Amino acid sequence: MAKIESKKRTVKYINCIDKVKNLTVNELQALKKVCNIYSFRANDYYLNLIDWNNPNDPIKRIIIPNLSEIDDNGQLDACNEKAITVAPGVQHKYKHTALLLCNETCGGVCRYCFRKRLFMDNNSEVAVDTTIGIQYIKNHPEITNVLLTGGDPLLLSTERLENIIKELHKIERVKIIRIGTKMTSFNPMRITEDDALLRTLRKYSTPEKRIYIMTHFDHPKELTEEAINAIQALNDAGVTLCNQCPILKGVNDDSNILAELYNELAVNGCTPYYAFQCRPTAGNKPYAVPITRAYFLFEESKKYASGTAIRAKYVMSHASGKIEIIGVDDKHIYLKYHRAQNTDLIGKVFVYKRDDNAYWLDDLLPHKINFV
Ligand code: SF4
Repeated sequence: MAKIESKKRTVKYINCIDKVKNLTVNELQALKKVCNIYSFRANDYYLNLIDWNNPNDPIKRIIIPNLSEIDDNGQLDACNEKAITVAPGVQHKYKHTALLLCNETCGGVCRYCFRKRLFMDNNSEVAVDTTIGIQYIKNHPEITNVLLTGGDPLLLSTERLENIIKELHKIERVKIIRIGTKMTSFNPMRITEDDALLRTLRKYSTPEKRIYIMTHFDHPKELTEEAINAIQALNDAGVTLCNQCPILKGVNDDSNILAELYNELAVNGCTPYYAFQCRPTAGNKPYAVPITRAYFLFEESKKYASGTAIRAKYVMSHASGKIEIIGVDDKHIYLKYHRAQNTDLIGKVFVYKRDDNAYWLDDLLPHKINFV
C-alpha cells in the first residue's frame, strides 16, 4: 500500500459558536439563537477553508449557522425514518439493505443535515453498541448489504469500527458494506494518519466482499490536497469510492461548480453517485433549491463534465422511496422510482404539473397527472 506523506496535525473540534474567531460579537449573539435550537460543531481544519472576506463563501454556508434556519418550522424527521427503525440503531426500508446508525457525532454539523435530530438531547435512534443491530441482520436472510451511518462511523475508534466490520464480514450473504462519511471533507487526516484504519479497510474489502466509502463532498473547495490524499489512500486500500451530496443554495447550485466538483472527483477516483434534493427537514429551507431549478442546473452541469464525471443521478430520498427526477418540460415534471419499499413502484414513471415552487414530492402530489 502506498504510504501517503502528509504532515501530522491535531484537528481541534469545537461545539460552541463562541469559539469561531472570525465572527463579530453581534453575529455571535444572533447565531447563538440558532445554536440553541440546532447543534453547532466544526473543527479548525474545516473552518480554515473559509475565505472570511467572501460573505458568500460556500464552506461558511455549509458549517456556520444562518439566522433564517429558525424561520423554518419543518419536521425534524421529514422522511419518517422512525417508521423504518426496526431495532435500536437499525433502519430497514429496502428489502436487501440495512442501515446501522452506529455513531451520533460528525466531524462537523452541516447546517442542512437531514438527521440533525440525532445531535439533539433525548434522541435514542443511534446505537453505539451494535450487538442487537448485527443480530437483526443475522436474523434477516434477505439483507445482503449494510450501510454504516449515523453520524459518522469514521469518528469511531478504528478498533471499534473494525469490530463492527468483522462481525458483518462473518455473515456470508452480506457482500457489500458501505460506510457513509464526511470525514474526507471535515478531517481527511483521520484517514491519512491512521495506518490501522487503512489496513482494516484493505483486509475486509476483498473481491468476495467489498467495502464502499460513500463520501460527501459538496463543493470543489473541500477537495484540498489533504482531501485528495485521503481519497488516494482509500483507493490504495482497495475500497470503492462514491460521492453523494445534496444540491444546496449558495453552495453548489451552479452548473459550473457542480461540473468542477464532478470532474475533480472523477479524476481522483471517487465516482459521483447521487445528487440529492435537499430534504425538507426543519431548518433546511434556507439551503433548499426548487426541484425544477435544481434539475436544470444539474443537467446543465453535464455539458461541462466528462462522461465519467456525470454518472450521478439527481434523486429525492422520499419516505416512499428514492425518486429520480428524470425530466422537466414546459408543463410537466417527470419522476421515476429508483428504489422503493413497495417494489412494484420501482421503474414506474409519474407525471406532475410543473410547479417551479415545488421543493418536494409532497408539493407536487396535488398536481399528479398520470402513470406513463
Ligand atoms: S455529515 Fe451527514 S450526518 Fe453528519 S452533519 Fe453532515 S449531513 Fe448530517
